[in-house]
Amino acid sequence: MRAQPIASHFVNGAYLEDAAGAPLEVLYPATGEVIALLHEATPAVIEAALAAASAAQGAWAALRPVERARILRRAADLIRERNPDLAQLETLDTGKPIQETLVADWPSGADAIEFFAGLAPSVTGETIPLGRDFAYTLREPLGVCVGIGAWNYPSQIACWKAAPALALGNAMVFKPSELTPLGALQLAEILAEAGLPPGLFNVVQGRGAVGASLVSDGRVAKVSLTGSVPTGRKVYAMAAEGVRHVTMELGGKSPLIIFDDADLESAVGAAMLANFYSAGQVCSNGTRVFVQAGIKARFLDRLAARTAAIRLGDPLDVDTQMGPLISGLQADKVMGYVTRAVAEGARLVCGGTRTQGNFVAPTVFADVTDAMELAREEVFGPVMAVLDFSTENEVVTRANATQFGLAAGVFTADLTRAHRVIAALQAGTCWINAYNLTPVEMPFGGSKLSGVGRENGHAAVAHYTQIKSVYVGMGPVDAPY
Ligand code: NDP
Repeated sequence: MRAQPIASHFVNGAYLEDAAGAPLEVLYPATGEVIALLHEATPAVIEAALAAASAAQGAWAALRPVERARILRRAADLIRERNPDLAQLETLDTGKPIQETLVADWPSGADAIEFFAGLAPSVTGETIPLGRDFAYTLREPLGVCVGIGAWNYPSQIACWKAAPALALGNAMVFKPSELTPLGALQLAEILAEAGLPPGLFNVVQGRGAVGASLVSDGRVAKVSLTGSVPTGRKVYAMAAEGVRHVTMELGGKSPLIIFDDADLESAVGAAMLANFYSAGQVCSNGTRVFVQAGIKARFLDRLAARTAAIRLGDPLDVDTQMGPLISGLQADKVMGYVTRAVAEGARLVCGGTRTQGNFVAPTVFADVTDAMELAREEVFGPVMAVLDFSTENEVVTRANATQFGLAAGVFTADLTRAHRVIAALQAGTCWINAYNLTPVEMPFGGSKLSGVGRENGHAAVAHYTQIKSVYVGMGPVDAPY
């Protein structure tokens, strides 16, 4: 598959170029090679996308939900058919190993499209008996939605936002991260091929300023952002100006709590998945691994041994288990955290080196304390912080002592403790004896600074529709005048 798309943008059912836009070089993170050259959206491209979305949305909303669903299901089938090629492009765009992109990225996107296609026809309002009179509610689409994505799961994010938006009768203008612009264009092509009318899913490329002009446009009813907390704050504030709906999927510093009685190999495996998958560039990662005193030595032994065996290398090789970070800048940032963690007194158990280019070895720090930077800030790289704890009450208090609230996990064989601890944790997405599994059937999202709203599951319906209440008078109007 060519990495260079036909044009930079996809607007009103077709590729669109405007070479007047600032150049956007797409680099393969594993080698730094330029794999595509795009242009940022100019005001004319942004205007064309918003105008197309506004014009197309009404007729789409007026279709029967099963008709919309039929088109989306076809798109999900096309994605599955083309998954090997799409996975390869995703690997080129992100540097993530092909063994991940084959199973995680587009497959999860196809699941979302299939799920919301199936769900949409059963979304209904309610009737409210009021004696002689009654009321009913309609669940209506919001209108034009803007989606803005991060670079870690670019195609999955595009699908997770497009699927509920489109299934429920909205139109979308999507801006991918400038670092990973390719997957969303594929989605636009596939949706068009599946029969989606022009204008309903548009892709415009660009940096933050392009996102900002979309978010502040008067035609936009909703903004769904996946990104960092600082960007989330800005976008949320801009959306508030126009009293627009928002979904904010932001960063985290999530706790993964491992009690003495946990199954050792599962707990180690989960901690590794929670820190090393996608080279640690996952928002919901369990980056504060709290390990109870009685299991600590065995846990660290097995963790070090299994981590040392992780295969870094060419992301296109199916045997490679970890690729590079997205950019040199991100690798610099991660190495800065490593250096400062050592300086603060954390004990380096393994890794801690930049092996070459954007590659950072999977890294484990033990004896991390709550006050250290490594326990407070999101690193977004393959760096695990292991913290010690003694009692359940203590660990719950410490786990909650953060402004983030995206995710949390607990490993224990004690059923009642598992549920008790989860109930006490302040996090939007939690796992018991598992970590980072995000099936589309389950709502996903954060509390506190990690976000508002939920993607996936039935919960997403509320974030892509609004309620219209209708009172029906069944008799003469009783006026006092
Ligand atoms: P950023 O916050 O830097 O960017 C997110 C998106 O917002 C990008 O497309 C970016 O464009 C765009 N953007 C930046 N500034 C503005 C602005 N002022 N107005 C509108 N749009 C803007 O995040 P990253 O791409 O660096 O992704 C990493 C972050 O995303 C991490 O914090 C991670 O935790 C979070 N994340 C959260 C997830 C969740 O579901 N909760 C999932 C995945 C990641 P550009 O990049 O082109 O500048």
